[in-house]
Amino acid sequence: MNSPATPQSWEQRADEYSLYGFTDLPSVAQRGTVVVTHGEGPYIVDVHGKRYLDANSGLWNMVAGFDHRGLIEAAKAQYERFPGYHSFFGRMSDQTVMLSEKLVEVSPFSRGKVFYTNSGSEANDTMVKMLWFLHRAEGNPNRRKILTRWNAYHGVTAVSASMTGKPYNEVFGLPLPGFIHLGCPHYWRFGEAGETEEQFVARLARELEEVILREGADTIAGFFAEPVMGAGGVIPPAKGYFQAIQPILKKHGIPFISDEVICGFGRTGSTWGCETYGFVPDAIISSKNLTAGFFPMGAVILGPELSDRLDAAIAPIEEFPHGFTASGHPVGCAIARKAIDVVMNEGLAQNVIDKAPRMEAGLRAIMDRHENIGELRGIGYMWALEAVRDKATKTPFDSSLSVSERIANASTDEGLICRPLGQAIVLCPPFILTDAQMDEMLEKLDRALTKVF
Ligand code: PLP
Repeated sequence: MNSPATPQSWEQRADEYSLYGFTDLPSVAQRGTVVVTHGEGPYIVDVHGKRYLDANSGLWNMVAGFDHRGLIEAAKAQYERFPGYHSFFGRMSDQTVMLSEKLVEVSPFSRGKVFYTNSGSEANDTMVKMLWFLHRAEGNPNRRKILTRWNAYHGVTAVSASMTGKPYNEVFGLPLPGFIHLGCPHYWRFGEAGETEEQFVARLARELEEVILREGADTIAGFFAEPVMGAGGVIPPAKGYFQAIQPILKKHGIPFISDEVICGFGRTGSTWGCETYGFVPDAIISSKNLTAGFFPMGAVILGPELSDRLDAAIAPIEEFPHGFTASGHPVGCAIARKAIDVVMNEGLAQNVIDKAPRMEAGLRAIMDRHENIGELRGIGYMWALEAVRDKATKTPFDSSLSVSERIANASTDEGLICRPLGQAIVLCPPFILTDAQMDEMLEKLDRALTKVF
């Protein structure tokens, strides 16, 4: 075995042996990797003992903080009882049975069925395969194209990355053929001069119908959307957007899938983002908050129509040939059951509802103090501040180390983790944040912005 030059520090050891994903390397070179040993409530602690308030909630998911006793106990108890099993071959853990019941109960559907994966990406892939399977079985084998939106994020597997509408996927030669990206419903950025929000939404709806007619409805398998785009930089839909597009999808028989990997379980102030925005989709994709980040798990929750149609499609071949070794893992299911209870019934979701106005007001005050913040956008506990070189013209910054990376680095120095996304800085704190911790978050961000601008 080669023995590389002995790396010294934790940071050097991380650089030496780990390939960083989704990491701006010049930024890390400037700042150094934060090597984390543990967490305390909404804080993470690094190898030097420095504490950071994690306004990123891990990656949107650690909504109950990093050391929630109830979740740790639920995991421990299930590891003692039955540590791991699949949900295939006519066998399934009792925890899986109970979680599926629970998920259908808390879903917006009167009834339905659940399928488990290990991640949100796999849940989106699974949903696409379900649609392809369904349409073929129903005699529509050409219904294969998937509609999503520019700037959407749906994951990293070949299919879910193709659904993702981010230019960086070009480095992989993606998207695959047949993945069509429609306009992003971000009025502040994409509304044309003199266009009202209503006209903007009507334009997006027209574009959707034109694409359906151009491609042929009988070639389209489904439409996927996040209620609020998360990794696109926290983009709530323009007013009336979902109400304008859903009837068009219905008219053309195109299933509408709500990707609730971020929005699900409280982030927008309701159980589901679709609830916040007043629509009922045909299926829901869930992950992240599903286990409050304590276990890697995703789920497809099918509404009544899709689950009936899938059952009918499966019947002739007597099997749905799909699943992962850890689908319906009993520890994941036990944690998810507890997480749903903690978030929905122990005041965490209520915290978001109660404290979101305080967070919005604090961020608005910060925006007013900094000339280079062009837009504040968000809902519940997901917000973004968009940095601009010129507020009046909305002209973005152009620097090699993006302004949002510099803000995130300055925040890290202050002991605050927040996420640079494009030219925006994103805050999506854990739901357990106290008033004092929220003030700490806002003060640290304000100081970081003052350093950068
Ligand atoms: N869908 C959305 C809306 C997401 O935000 C993410 C991840 O951030 C995914 C899917 C992919 O989930 P995962 O990273 O668990 O594969």
